[in-house]
Amino acid sequence: MDDFDPADLSDERLAVRFSLDTCRDCGLCSKACPSTRHGGIDPRNVVRDLIAGEREENVWDCLLCYICDDVCPVDINLPLLITHLRYRSALEGDAPPRFVRGAKAFLKEGRGFPAGPRTAKVREEMGLPAMQNGDRAMRELGKVVSRTRFAHE
Ligand code: SF4
Ligand code: SF4
Repeated sequence: MDDFDPADLSDERLAVRFSLDTCRDCGLCSKACPSTRHGGIDPRNVVRDLIAGEREENVWDCLLCYICDDVCPVDINLPLLITHLRYRSALEGDAPPRFVRGAKAFLKEGRGFPAGPRTAKVREEMGLPAMQNGDRAMRELGKVVSRTRFAHE
């Protein structure tokens, strides 16, 4: 896997890659978006802002639920576009601390949440086996996460 070239994440490149000129500005994506409903990201504004060369502020509020992708009549892959914008935001050091903490925990332990004695006790009570970290899986995970450079922010 090649490193992302930040130049490929320019508004102009993203607009071409995701065929944003085909957007009908119908608003179906925003109407269906659960995040928009609660004051978060507005997917139609993501498209509008990119075309206008303006920064979308709320990319980290997306739930990546893919509902907008389901309803878009011209098949613009908004969740993937937003993922690119998040990547750009992370490269610029703007990823919210909770995401960075989660990524670092994921890199270190293979999970994005702390799993201490309490978690072990609950699992035992539920009759679940103790959690294990597979060495090979962790090595592969480490490569993937470090290549994103997300954990270096
Ligand atoms: S993927 Fe993101 S932008 Fe699309 S509907 Fe879900 S929360 Fe909204
Ligand atoms: S649903 Fe698709 S065509 Fe309609 S505004 Fe959203 S991105 Fe544009």
